[in-house]
Amino acid sequence: MRLVLLGAPGAGKGTQAKKLIEKHSIPQISTGDILRKAVADGTPLGKEAKVIMDSGGLVSDKIVLGLVQERLKQDDCKKGYILDGFPRNTAQAEALDKILSGMGAPLTVALSVDVDKDVLMKRLTGRRTCKSCQQMYNIYFSAPKKEGVCDKCGGALFQRDDDKEETIKKRLDVYDTQTAPLFDYYGKKGILKSVKGTGSIDDIFNEVCKILGS
Ligand code: AMP
Repeated sequence: MRLVLLGAPGAGKGTQAKKLIEKHSIPQISTGDILRKAVADGTPLGKEAKVIMDSGGLVSDKIVLGLVQERLKQDDCKKGYILDGFPRNTAQAEALDKILSGMGAPLTVALSVDVDKDVLMKRLTGRRTCKSCQQMYNIYFSAPKKEGVCDKCGGALFQRDDDKEETIKKRLDVYDTQTAPLFDYYGKKGILKSVKGTGSIDDIFNEVCKILGS
């Protein structure tokens, strides 16, 4: 399965991707995670990316495409993969198609995870992550027992810079203008499927498996 996950920030693509990779033993390629790692490692690319990520904009296509192309060449992608957060615009989607046709292995499906805007806002502004073990919480939907403290390890919880309200508005705007046209793009190619991204994680996952026939 060579899958692209589409959906607004906060739609739960990453959560579903994690369940799919467990089930299918294929890697999740999240450009957001790769970029956050570069930021945490303090690489030159990370430093360049951080400013843009904190503002809610998109990192340049050239940087992101370079990262994805390198990742797709690795052996663990031979059986398939899940692209999460990439492509983010039509230029990236076209470039991806070119790379994959060069590899003789085009995408099999683009799956969109659909969630209303008001729910997205709560999911994103409420998100907190543990500094020590990376466990995620949401102050609206899955709050820790004690405010600001991780239930699992007692670590301090923090809010990602790009989860602050102003940045989120910008990220959702960027999604509407740049990423939403991809529904049309993949629809025309006949590989677009969609799932409702609200309800329990397991129920959504069952739906995802039905839709993917897996
Ligand atoms: P995400 O975790 O996927 O929401 O990504 C977090 C941030 O990383 C985004 O707001 C962008 O600034 C940047 N980013 C992630 N993926 C891409 C991409 N495919 N193209 C450009 N920027 C990206």
